[in-house]
Amino acid sequence: MDSVTHDHLQALCSDLLQIIGEDIRREGLRDTPKRWADFWQEFMEYDAGNSDTTFEAVSADQLVTVSDIQVISLCEHHLLPFTCTISIAYITKEKVLGLSKFARIAQHHAHKLQLQERLCQDIAGDIVRLAETPDVAVLGIGSHMCMEMRGIKQSATMRTSVMLGAFRTEGGARDEVLQLWRMKG
Ligand code: ZN
Repeated sequence: MDSVTHDHLQALCSDLLQIIGEDIRREGLRDTPKRWADFWQEFMEYDAGNSDTTFEAVSADQLVTVSDIQVISLCEHHLLPFTCTISIAYITKEKVLGLSKFARIAQHHAHKLQLQERLCQDIAGDIVRLAETPDVAVLGIGSHMCMEMRGIKQSATMRTSVMLGAFRTEGGARDEVLQLWRMKG
């Protein structure tokens, strides 16, 4: 993000504050446009680091699961945050992904305007590509400020799952992972 964009963001924030009736000269708000622009810069330019290191699988057809990766993203409908707990499962073929990569992949896709459904799909797509397996499942359990601060103002949990390859068919790997995620029996 260049300084022109940062300046533009600050100007937008000053406008917003005035539109909602605030006095932008009062002490608490004096640096708010700068802080707000800094936030957007940090959010959009976040670098999750290298996520494509893979190892040769010791044996194929193992079910690998990684649970409880916490991310915070921004809902593209309301520009309000949502938190999401991500669990990932895949069946190994030739490649195994390093453990730290899952969190990086999740963080990478969380740092843009998102929908929870697409966040899970984006993560699943990366695992398919990097682990070179069609068998990937991703579960997201989200809590959305746009639901909790607006409308009926109730806290609610939203679950979205993406089931690809072997996880699409009833039984077998699908049952195993759904049980692990306590979504079944
Ligand atoms: Zn929303």
